Amino acid sequence: MRRFLPVIILAPALACLAAVAQTPAAPALNPNAACRQCIESHENFLASDALQGRGSGTQNELIAATYIASQLEAYGIAPAAPGGAYIEIAPAPPTSATRLGTTANVVGMLQGSDAGAPVLLLTAHLDHLGVNPEHAYNGDAIFNGADDDASGCTAVLELARMLSLGERPKRSVYFAFFGSEETGGAGAKYFVEHPPVPLDHIVANLEFEMIGWPDAAVPAHTLWLTGWQRSNLGSEMARQGAKLVGDPHPAEHFFCRSDNLQLAIAGVVAQTVSSFGLQPMYHRADDDVAHLDFGLMTDSIGSMIKPVRMLLNSKFVPAWNPGGRPSAGRGGCS
Ligand SMILES: [Zn+2]
Repeated sequence: MRRFLPVIILAPALACLAAVAQTPAAPALNPNAACRQCIESHENFLASDALQGRGSGTQNELIAATYIASQLEAYGIAPAAPGGAYIEIAPAPPTSATRLGTTANVVGMLQGSDAGAPVLLLTAHLDHLGVNPEHAYNGDAIFNGADDDASGCTAVLELARMLSLGERPKRSVYFAFFGSEETGGAGAKYFVEHPPVPLDHIVANLEFEMIGWPDAAVPAHTLWLTGWQRSNLGSEMARQGAKLVGDPHPAEHFFCRSDNLQLAIAGVVAQTVSSFGLQPMYHRADDDVAHLDFGLMTDSIGSMIKPVRMLLNSKFVPAWNPGGRPSAGRGGCS
């Protein structure tokens, strides 16, 4: 319950507050550096209590998708879902009363100058675990998913913003945000079955998952790539300046635990960028904005723009190393 104050006292107090309130300066929009204010604002919406944890296949997931679509539109990124829309609605089995029986993906595209060149795909998942009173943490039942995976959505949005401001790249780049990752990947499955370009035309997929917490196992402000040894993608990006190293937790099999896997099984060199340090907030209600490291996010997202531009402007075609491509058997991770 809120404390009661008579209006006669409150009114002058509010007037004072209004007089000293600071208007934030508009962010500097730089094509070569991530914008911390933009990153914070995406998180403050996507991971807010208002979105009720973006439950897979819920109305709240659709609101998150609509926000992401509106940001892409503001950056001048073209809609790339079938029918010329940003949002595609995919079937997803309803698993509780709040679920719609569908899930929402967002797909956008920045056209490159060489229309025949293979394309790059940058992805994240927009859903999380919703509200779960049975697993409330310190009385909080809203699973905000600020790190998992509002941070990845924020990274892809920031890369879209920077790319839209810079010189037009040679290769086109697609941005996809998948629904229902947490309940088995129905959004990514639909995308793989209905890709906006043939899958063999996708030169690589970088999935961004949980980049908002530092990992003590790697140097400060550094991200890691799952399945490092499976392809030559990570080493080439690091050579181009990305603060990117190999996944220091191979026993966790993270390569097999994100939406990149379905694309990898389909043949695309598809790996996940993360900085998850096995924190206890994982899949807990305190994965919230208060626990994010915005310095890490700003630096590491910014470090990706040069190597992403390299992937878009060079003829480099990442390839699986021998035995690196997963097969469809044993959950794709044989
Ligand atoms: Zn998760």
